[in-house]
Amino acid sequence: MLALVKTALGHGNLEVIEREEPVVGKDQVKILVKYAGICGSDLHTYEGKYKVNVPVTLGHEFAGEVVEIGENVTEVKVGDRVTSETTFYICGECKYCKSKDYNLCSTRKGLGSQQDGGFTKYVVARKESIHILPENVDYLSASITEALACAHHAVAKSNIKKDDVVVVLGPGPIGLLVAQIAKTYEAKVIITGLEKDKSRLEKGKELGVDFAVDIQNEDIKQAVNDLSNGYGADIVFECTGAPPSVNFGLDLLTKKGQYVQVGIFPTAEILTDFEKIIQKELTITGCRSQKPSDWEPSLQLLNTNKVNAKALVSHQFNITEWDKAYATIKNGEAIKVVLKVE
Ligand SMILES: [Zn+2]
Ligand SMILES: [Zn+2]
Repeated sequence: MLALVKTALGHGNLEVIEREEPVVGKDQVKILVKYAGICGSDLHTYEGKYKVNVPVTLGHEFAGEVVEIGENVTEVKVGDRVTSETTFYICGECKYCKSKDYNLCSTRKGLGSQQDGGFTKYVVARKESIHILPENVDYLSASITEALACAHHAVAKSNIKKDDVVVVLGPGPIGLLVAQIAKTYEAKVIITGLEKDKSRLEKGKELGVDFAVDIQNEDIKQAVNDLSNGYGADIVFECTGAPPSVNFGLDLLTKKGQYVQVGIFPTAEILTDFEKIIQKELTITGCRSQKPSDWEPSLQLLNTNKVNAKALVSHQFNITEWDKAYATIKNGEAIKVVLKVE
């Protein structure tokens, strides 16, 4: 079967090559992939900034049909429509595994990075990671579940409540998903972007976000102050990973506000205004990926149409056109891109 494989570390080394069909183990499920989403981390992997276990088939966001199950699998059957958590291996013994915070297990192995993922025809996942798609969730929407689970994780880690003024920095797929989830709490949500993000900001408005602000041409501080009687935002979700965005976000917060870091930075050390953290008694929250408890709520958000993930899919390509797919993301043309095998 053809697969999009990172063949060696470093920049590039991404190729569509022939690989053997995976064999299903006794506690595993074999899935025929229908769609697989491209994540920002897949671009980082191409650029060699994100280490994976080469050679490996990329793709950790996917949905498909169960075609084979291992002998110990009773939870799903052949023909079921499913998606899978990215967790492929965990130690099962550390304190994070015991609390099902698999995203924090140091020896965790993930699909599409340490284990072959979904940019191909068949992928094998552990049975514990499988989720059956609810009735109203189609394959295309379901291929965005992992990204939605990451957004859910971020919002779940915040203290969000009704009528909060929430600013989402960055109108990429994760920002647009975070904003939609924030709206389900009846918060007042502002999403921000740059001039080049015009179509993404418009998408935000179309999806029910209260205000979409181009920070290069509009006064975000004024907008936040107007909404909050001059106090500032209750919560900022930083979803760009652009270093200057940190102090920008800290500045928008009210005293006792909460800053949630969702985006991934290109470097580890970021210039941060700690004076603001002290003087405003801010809470800074980190969040990494997603964990099991984020998945069923995410699927229910899709099932009840509270979140529209499909609306973010701007392009679809065959895996053989991966370079075109990557380019549409890189040049800002796309919002979310999915790959198909056939
Ligand atoms: Zn991802
Ligand atoms: Zn562990």
